[in-house]
Amino acid sequence: MVKKTYLKLDSQVQYIKGIGPKRSLYFKKIGVETINDLLFLVPRRYIDYSDIFKIKNLKINNEATVIGKIQLVELQKIKNRVNLTKILLTDDSGSINIKWFNRPDLKKKFKVGDWLLISGKVSFFYDRQFVNPLYEIISEEEIMEKTHGSIIPVYPLTDGLSLWDIKRAIKISLDACLDEIRETLPQSITKKHNLMSLSEAVYNLHFPTKIEKAIAARRRLVYDEFFFFELILAKRKMKFMNETGIPLKENGKLTEKFVRLLPFQLTKGQTEVIKSIVNNMEQLRPMNRLLQGDVGSGKTIVALYAMLVSVENGYQSVLMAPTEILAEQHFIVLSEILKKLNVESLLLTSSIKGDERQTTIQKIHSGEAQIIFGTHALIEEEIMFKNLGLAVVDEQHRFGVMQRAALVNKGINPDFLVLSATPIPRTIALTLYGDLDISMLKEKPPSRGEVITKIVNEKKKGTTFEFVRQEVSKGRQVFVICPIIEKSEILDLKSVNEVYQEITGAFPECSVGVIHGRLKTAERMSIMNEFRCGNLSILVATTVIEVGVDIPNASVMLIEHPERFGLAQLHQLRGRIGRGAQKSYCFLFLNRYVPPETFERISFFEKNNDGFALAQKDIKLRGPGEILGKKQHGLPDIKIGDLEADKDLLFLARDDAFELVKKDPEISSSEYYVIRRKLNKLAKKAQLLRIG
Ligand code: ADP
Ligand code: MG
Repeated sequence: MVKKTYLKLDSQVQYIKGIGPKRSLYFKKIGVETINDLLFLVPRRYIDYSDIFKIKNLKINNEATVIGKIQLVELQKIKNRVNLTKILLTDDSGSINIKWFNRPDLKKKFKVGDWLLISGKVSFFYDRQFVNPLYEIISEEEIMEKTHGSIIPVYPLTDGLSLWDIKRAIKISLDACLDEIRETLPQSITKKHNLMSLSEAVYNLHFPTKIEKAIAARRRLVYDEFFFFELILAKRKMKFMNETGIPLKENGKLTEKFVRLLPFQLTKGQTEVIKSIVNNMEQLRPMNRLLQGDVGSGKTIVALYAMLVSVENGYQSVLMAPTEILAEQHFIVLSEILKKLNVESLLLTSSIKGDERQTTIQKIHSGEAQIIFGTHALIEEEIMFKNLGLAVVDEQHRFGVMQRAALVNKGINPDFLVLSATPIPRTIALTLYGDLDISMLKEKPPSRGEVITKIVNEKKKGTTFEFVRQEVSKGRQVFVICPIIEKSEILDLKSVNEVYQEITGAFPECSVGVIHGRLKTAERMSIMNEFRCGNLSILVATTVIEVGVDIPNASVMLIEHPERFGLAQLHQLRGRIGRGAQKSYCFLFLNRYVPPETFERISFFEKNNDGFALAQKDIKLRGPGEILGKKQHGLPDIKIGDLEADKDLLFLARDDAFELVKKDPEISSSEYYVIRRKLNKLAKKAQLLRIG
């Protein structure tokens, strides 16, 4: 009797024979839950068996791959803190030494008699050797297996899962479900770019006969991913191109006086950006614009200008910020100017309670409040606006897609402006935010002092403190940042309080404040005010001040445990200084050993001030999803494609998608049936319209 399998594409992998619930957990670790996930699991790389060297033939400086059996495994201590894992590998032609420094874990992984695949550069030390090469433990079956040609895919692995386990599961899944894979692109597109069919691509991803086939398979999958991502953007854009918003024409009643009241001149960049925003707001279709500019580039004033255009027309404007401290700052600083213009502004955060809250809500509803600043509290259901003309979201990456949509929905197709300090290359920005119009502020306002960053060994702290003392005596102010509020058992890090004690001890002559997220609003506001007006010289803070805080006289920042922060976060933190004319200093206190990658990150930060360079490095280190908040974008994931390396394909997909929507907005032609079928699957997300 022939056994029939009941595996379907959406079956859980545990139903694959030989896997079961327990082993399926290992698959989950590499992101595989269903058969479909498994079939779309992209190998990290491929090994071409015809490229495998005999050990005998290896020459010094060869970049080569060999396969052999482990004869010997040793762990040696060389000197303090350095140890060496050494193995002897043989094949039928000879043997070679392989060494890894400081990888004592490998001793347990490798067993005499195991087959090992080694890939790296041959060097020389008494004899030929590999040092720190890539390795893969492989099974005998795998070596014997010749049925599927000579290209071996190498999948992402995790402890408990061998390449062979994955290959076997994929083989079973392909046999059972390859027929179930539905095409997603019409022939007009696959022909144009010479793309494989989807099922052909899935097959060749795992069992290519030539490396070129594997590359072509991946190319098809990447194009697919990009195409649907762009298609949804194109549809979104088309949708609100046809929407009717509120034409808000600048009449200068407020904006002219506003510009005169500013203590500085707008920069050329600001003036240009304002011009395109004003043009955009004037039109009947709602504005949907992203304003990008590095930290400190002066985005707030641009936003406020636009908010005043709306008020000039008798409409309200709102600005939502991600932290209470930032919302409070916007309110305190900007309401000064707004008072002089006789514009009524208000603050709403969740710390505002009771009667005050009721009055605030009422004023927003009646229209008495013309400009409203606040946090997430603004999007609660009971908050209603009289007539919202413009919604602004500050530090957009800190909000989810639903939150941004909720703010826009407080009005009837209001204009929408999102502010972002993540500078990404323009081409990529255009592509990822293809549904938005984009403005960029490239230069910072003039006469900004230089910012110098230095990693300091904790032991040399004293010298740094002396330097800081001199700066304070010149009237400068100082931020001291530490990553946690309270000491935890797990993390051996200094708490805010410990740092506060240390600083008050070291600077007895200075007034020192401390601020963190657990303080009551009133207390926090009063401390920020004391710091802003200069009554405090030093402020010890957690990352509550990470985004947006603007105190131009603060020119020194000390960061405790910089190893705890990512690049983007460090850049935001450092963005709090260097906002005035004086030279600024950022010191990073390292008090422990950090892994090389961490040190590389911190050193890169030390050497680079440019947000652009930092963002690009960050994209490399963490992948674009994290940085762009793509998860919150409401768009399909980009899992396989690489925005940098696959840029050309991204642009092709973008052009195709936008052209298609232009030609056939509803994608209704029968030729596009396959596209519609996939779109319907993605439909839930695709309905999230008007999102920045
Ligand atoms: P960000 O883009 O990071 O939000 P801000 O809008 O907070 O930056 O501006 C940073 C600082 O630069 C603020 O103190 C602001 O008053 C100041 N600023 C903005 N525009 C100008 C300008 N044209 N000339 C001088 N200073 C400016
Ligand atoms: Mg800002």
